[in-house]
Amino acid sequence: MIQENLAFVKNKIHDACQESKRKETEITLIAVSKTKPLSMLEAAYQCGCRDFGENKVQELLEKEEALPKDIRWHMIGHLQRNKVKYIIGKTTMIHSVDSVRLAQEISKEAGKKAITVSILIEVNIGSEESKYGVPPEQAEELVREISQLPYLKIEGFMAVAPYTEDAESNRQYFERLRDLSVDIKSKNIDNVYMNVLSMGMSGDYAVAIQEGATMVRVGTGIFGERDYQI
Ligand SMILES: *Cc1c(COP(=O)(O)O)cnc(C)c1O
Repeated sequence: MIQENLAFVKNKIHDACQESKRKETEITLIAVSKTKPLSMLEAAYQCGCRDFGENKVQELLEKEEALPKDIRWHMIGHLQRNKVKYIIGKTTMIHSVDSVRLAQEISKEAGKKAITVSILIEVNIGSEESKYGVPPEQAEELVREISQLPYLKIEGFMAVAPYTEDAESNRQYFERLRDLSVDIKSKNIDNVYMNVLSMGMSGDYAVAIQEGATMVRVGTGIFGERDYQI
């Protein structure tokens, strides 16, 4: 099942790239494996997946420990400051930085290990009350403050668009995040790269790619529906 799903997703990424005249090599497919057992991650690994996304620290650490070391782990979920110390050095990128306090903690722990941590600033692009992320209007100010901290590299933005059955309705949000990223990049802030746009999930990754996503986070589309009862 995973093999067929991956083939389907990759094909759709291919088509979205063609439609928008982009190169497939610009897009990283992150297999979002939260709640899924190791056997399913191993199957995806066998099919060539090397980027996996998790949203809980404990689960990410357990899977990281058990699976091959050439996997790049992406922390995509809300991160509590007291758990930062456990994941520093274990992740390739932290997608969910939305406050100076969290960034300070990551910077402090990265400093202890003398490593630089790649982060994305999470933007609440649909301005939904229930969502994490900085409001778009405050994104530049947050980027400027965090850019002052040592041991961090601001690679770009991440957003979780509103849940919808109609991917087209999220196009406006993806477009807005891309515009915001282009705008901030043009200000040449020290230590701010803005080459990564992590946006698009199972329901809307094709539209996100058309609007400039460089990372898409696909869970259900690869592993099937999640069962939160287990
Ligand atoms: C769960 C999750 C995804 C994947 O969602 P699907 O709809 O299953 O593809 C992507 N991004 C974040 C932040 C998530 O928590």
